[in-house]
Amino acid sequence: MMAKEQEILQSYFGYESFRPGQKETIQHVLQQRNTLAVMPTGGGKSLCYQVPGMVLDGTAIIISPLISLMKDQVDALQSLGIPATYINSSLTTEEQQQRMQDIAAKRYKFVYVAPERFESSFFINVIRRIPLSLIAFDEAHCISQWGHDFRPSYRSIVPNLRKLQSVPVLIALTATATGEVIKDIQQMLQMDHVINTGFERANLNFHLIKGKDKPTYIRSFIQKHEDESGIIYTATRKQADALHEQLTKRGVSVSKYHAGLSETERKQAQAAFIHDETTVMIATNAFGMGIDKSNVRYVIHYAMPMNIESYYQEAGRAGRDGEMSDCILLFSPQDIQLQKFLIEQSQMEEAAKQGEYRKLQAMINYCHTHSCLTNFILDYFSDMPSREGCGRCSNCLERQEKSDITEEAQKILSCVKRMGERFGVGMTAKVLKGSKDKKISQFQLTSISTYGILSSYTEKELTEWIHFLIAEQLLATEEGKFPVLKLNQQSVDVLKGKRQVWMFTAPIPQSEETDYH
Ligand code: ADP
Repeated sequence: MMAKEQEILQSYFGYESFRPGQKETIQHVLQQRNTLAVMPTGGGKSLCYQVPGMVLDGTAIIISPLISLMKDQVDALQSLGIPATYINSSLTTEEQQQRMQDIAAKRYKFVYVAPERFESSFFINVIRRIPLSLIAFDEAHCISQWGHDFRPSYRSIVPNLRKLQSVPVLIALTATATGEVIKDIQQMLQMDHVINTGFERANLNFHLIKGKDKPTYIRSFIQKHEDESGIIYTATRKQADALHEQLTKRGVSVSKYHAGLSETERKQAQAAFIHDETTVMIATNAFGMGIDKSNVRYVIHYAMPMNIESYYQEAGRAGRDGEMSDCILLFSPQDIQLQKFLIEQSQMEEAAKQGEYRKLQAMINYCHTHSCLTNFILDYFSDMPSREGCGRCSNCLERQEKSDITEEAQKILSCVKRMGERFGVGMTAKVLKGSKDKKISQFQLTSISTYGILSSYTEKELTEWIHFLIAEQLLATEEGKFPVLKLNQQSVDVLKGKRQVWMFTAPIPQSEETDYH
């Protein structure tokens, strides 16, 4: 006899088989075990709660911070003949009341709500009187302070759950969770079972582009990919506005989305993009969380984002249909200053800021590593990287000629030592260059033996090298806004000549013709 979950997969959802992780997750939930499922974007997390929601009796409550997505999810379920609804602030009071009555009358199999709903005693009173099949926490990383999108309202659900007469089985789902976020979710929701299918998305090609005029690069890229949908993420609204204006002036048809636009403008831009009326969307990170557009062929980051979590999530909006897609990051050194500024002027508490600086450092390292980019990301999420490298990212493809820079590295490292391990990247590069900058003389750094020791290189090159040494963990940094350089065991090995340092000489794609299709 066919298992009930298999039957529902076919009869209601019309799919033949489960994707990796789905079956295990569903079976755990059906055995009433609280379960956390970590699956990549596009991995099929919705089915993990929708199938058990159909197998079990009662109403499933889905908590999601993505108000914009609720309607689509509910429409999709209704079109399959499954009674579903949502309650959020976009409804009028009358509509909300009507829906609450219908929930109380047990009319629905699925009810989508925003986390704040659990603060309403009226809502709690209604759902404690009806049988519940499960409670799902979508985008569960939002519950953790260590996550990149922490929502306090998500956390406050936990004490409110106790007000229910009996708490049904809980399921949490996320695509982006580091080890500490996973632990946090597990502890908070008492989840012994974690299904982690890994993060790798084999259809995404990561590229890092440096030293380019960004608008020119983007224009030429768009021209070459006229018929393909793509998202261009900028770090600020100002950047989005400027780029949008530049491209529009040149006759490129682009949409724009950020939190500074009116709701109507945002809705229109989103609809035009989703329905392929415009192929390119220029947006800040306000766009996209939960947007289910499967044929996005590329995601370009106009500037380095603030951490790897956001980067992987945003870049991961490409290729949800499984087709090969490109994720391109356009890096320039100014991006680092911009992100530091954004952290500094945010309302976060000091401890949280320090955490953000730490994550930013990993992002900076991504932009300077010469190793496989896919592996770098997987490593970051403590996932299992392949030993060889992915063979698809720009580092694997472009970086083939290596040169020995052990001597230069030794000079840089001894300079860090002689400067007393008290300064950051910028100052160290200046000393190596032999800069006449006032700050250097103020700190009496002109008299140390490594002053000007690499003066034949530009300050920019030296900065790049220092970042490379950090990215390859041959040099350590102390956390903070201006990370201070410190030697580590590997640095000592290099200084003692026990270890060589190799750097790829061919810089990543410089020619305008470089095209990845
Ligand atoms: P996620 O939330 O993990 O990003 P979704 O739940 O939105 O992913 O699913 C992504 C796409 O994959 C959807 O279009 C969904 O219908 C499809 N999908 C999910 N599970 C299966 C399956 N077992 N077989 C085929 N398609 C599936």
